Amino acid sequence: MPEVVVVGGGPVGLLLAVLLAQRGVDVVVLEARVDGSAHSRAIGIHPPALGVLESAGIADDAIGRGVPITAGEVRCDGRMLGSLDFAEAGAAYPFVLSLPQRETEALLRHRLRQLAPDAVRRGVRVTGVLQRSDGVDVVLDDGSAVAASFVIGADGSRSVVRAASGIQWLARGDRVDYVMADFPDDTGHGERALLFFERGGVVESFPLPHGERRWVAMTDREWTGVTSQQLAELIEERTGMRTTPGPGAVSAFSVRQHLATSMAVGRVALVGDAAHEISPIGGQGMNLGWLDARMLAPALTAALGGDTESLGRYDRDRRRSAAMASRQAAFNMGMGKPVSGMRLGARNALVRSLAVPPTRALVARAFTMRWL
Ligand SMILES: Cc1cc2nc3c(=O)[nH]c(=O)nc-3n(C[C@H](O)[C@H](O)[C@H](O)COP(=O)(O)OP(=O)(O)OC[C@H]3O[C@@H](n4cnc5c(N)ncnc54)[C@H](O)[C@@H]3O)c2cc1C
Repeated sequence: MPEVVVVGGGPVGLLLAVLLAQRGVDVVVLEARVDGSAHSRAIGIHPPALGVLESAGIADDAIGRGVPITAGEVRCDGRMLGSLDFAEAGAAYPFVLSLPQRETEALLRHRLRQLAPDAVRRGVRVTGVLQRSDGVDVVLDDGSAVAASFVIGADGSRSVVRAASGIQWLARGDRVDYVMADFPDDTGHGERALLFFERGGVVESFPLPHGERRWVAMTDREWTGVTSQQLAELIEERTGMRTTPGPGAVSAFSVRQHLATSMAVGRVALVGDAAHEISPIGGQGMNLGWLDARMLAPALTAALGGDTESLGRYDRDRRRSAAMASRQAAFNMGMGKPVSGMRLGARNALVRSLAVPPTRALVARAFTMRWL
């Protein structure tokens, strides 16, 4: 019987398994998908999360494959409102690393194979969790069960483990719609992030490896069936920048933030998106999940050794961080909403005031998740 079963082999479940395997814990990861996800999701890895990747032994590999974003600019109506220098965040890593999530997951899978070659079982879908006083049974879709001392729900925002454990999932704020694609980068802006706070809504742009750039635009509704050409036209209309659509997929997505009412119940704990769904705007979700994993690995080791309080401390500490991240993401989304007239002037004045010392260093700290 494994000591810990992690349900879900996304970036957070894989990292947690690496940290547990490094501590000598017998861990199994159950993952429903047979292949890795091809969807383009997280790209931004913030300094504290790079510290976690360092302790997992893969920071250098990640940095070697990614693009370090050292600075950002906020623009409106063709003028610069302010700039951010991530070195001012005072971190050991003075940049936000841009690396597509599928490449990050590949590094994590490779590292876990080195530590525990048979830890990941793919094509295994979990349908339920039954707690006993001395362990937990994880029920699979073929009717069989896997027993473990502790079970971790790292199974994303639609978590079966969360639902089976009776933990509530509370929505926070309104739904916001976006369109996103990765285009060849012909902007000439190199390793800078660009935030266009325009009247029609925010357009964000970040460098990617392999000569590409990610573009994300807020929209007034869900743009189902959107094409790359339509996104390029929207970017030009709002920002005046001409982009060249590439062959990659364009996606429309809606964001509604959620928080779980608990991150640990008995012998079950939640981590990552299973515990908190945070807006991608500001790029915090995966990073927050990794910071959960950094605390959960020693908490589980302690619990396996008989500490009955460690998961409770994890629950309290990480729910506080998730609430802060959710508030910060709500602020980011609010700043990017369509605006005109006097409110536009007030919003731009606020951005200018945030982008001068000493507040600029505080904003850089907040943006790079230094207080989570
Ligand atoms: C467009 C977009 C951009 C983003 N950009 C950023 C960013 O720049 N920075 C950032 O930090 N975050 C970003 N995020 C958020 C980030 O992608 C998520 O926070 C991250 O994927 C969460 O990882 P996870 O491992 O917790 O969950 P997931 O990635 O959802 O992984 C869950 C895994 O569990 C598996 N699973 C689910 N149910 C079961 C089951 N019943 N049985 C077995 N397996 C199961 C799934 O197949 C999946 O592999 C972005 C998200 C989006 C949508």
